[in-house]
Amino acid sequence: MSKDASLFPIHFFNSEIFCEECAQLRKFKIFSQEKYDKNYGKSEIPPNKPLFCKCDECENTVIYATNEFAELQEEPTFGFCKIWGMGNLETGDNVFHPEIGICNVDGINRVHDALPQIVLKQQNGEKIEVPAVEGTENKSTEFYRLFPQDAENARIGDRIYNTETKIIGKVIGLEFGEEQKIVIEFENKEIEKCPCKSSESYLTDDFLEHNAKWRCKDFDFSLSMQITSSSKVLSVSCRVSNLSSICELEKIISSIPQIRCFIMHFVVAKSEMSSSDIYKELVKNCIYLCCCLVEFKNQEIHIAGFYYAKDTQQKIYRVLSKFPIKKVILDIKMRSDIKVIRTINESERFIRISKIGKIVHIDGWVATEKEKDSVKWRTFFSTFSFNIENHLLVLG
Ligand SMILES: [Zn+2]
Repeated sequence: MSKDASLFPIHFFNSEIFCEECAQLRKFKIFSQEKYDKNYGKSEIPPNKPLFCKCDECENTVIYATNEFAELQEEPTFGFCKIWGMGNLETGDNVFHPEIGICNVDGINRVHDALPQIVLKQQNGEKIEVPAVEGTENKSTEFYRLFPQDAENARIGDRIYNTETKIIGKVIGLEFGEEQKIVIEFENKEIEKCPCKSSESYLTDDFLEHNAKWRCKDFDFSLSMQITSSSKVLSVSCRVSNLSSICELEKIISSIPQIRCFIMHFVVAKSEMSSSDIYKELVKNCIYLCCCLVEFKNQEIHIAGFYYAKDTQQKIYRVLSKFPIKKVILDIKMRSDIKVIRTINESERFIRISKIGKIVHIDGWVATEKEKDSVKWRTFFSTFSFNIENHLLVLG
């Protein structure tokens, strides 16, 4: 699998994961294909994207998906049960009670001068009232996934509670071979691989491979296609002509049920296009980015900047779809405070002067270095701003 490393150029984060080779918990470096910002908002990190994980000790590698890490989840406690006595209970919570097992909080009666009483609804519908346990304030963020009841949904980093042995542990690895297993490190440092009991039938790699091939059979480039599945991760390699076929293929592959994520290897015909050709194409289609950067390298295009027209992202994809581009990396953010000061649109040049906050940006292209300088001076005299960023391209 190490041959895939080049497809994952971005060091995303580090995590402790169980290493199959070392047979113990190790530090792993985790690489992604796209740049995600963990601090910007978890909702920005899409699920089912492959992550390339490499053991620091032995360099063994494994593919996990973005949604398989507890720390990349927007709502890490979703679907969790709070253990009895831990967490601020609310109506509707699932809780684990040591004597009656899993039940549901039906209501909380706050009694003056006494411990609140909690009404629990058992699985047979019967209700009982028990006092809440005191001294739980600091534990309000502690949630545990119940094992084995909810093992199927476990993610790396989840804390789990074994309802049979009453021991707490942490999920340190997931396995998706012939059956699904989770690797747990228990409080006593013992590491155990536990099979998950799945409610739906567990599809094998053979089945997924067949399904993928069948779904792709009508795709224009299906003759050049190779599809393999390993641990429910699909690897697809294919020769295509443009970005639009790539998007089409990705849509087909992502619709296959039960695959964890997919890795695409595309071969696209070489092109003579340059970064500025693509930039011009965007402007020709009325896509204006402030503080704009367009870089076309190794058939990948990187576009950065600020925009204010809502549909800019879709428009960019539409314009680029006919070109032989393998991948689009969009690093653009919406800013509603962009003020356009002036636009000059002539055959030899395109100049757009805009302002965000106190900074004046000059975007576009001119013919000579001298012209680029003179635009800056003219901008200075018309705005009296010392904060001028000149992004003009010189296309002489
Ligand atoms: Zn290792």
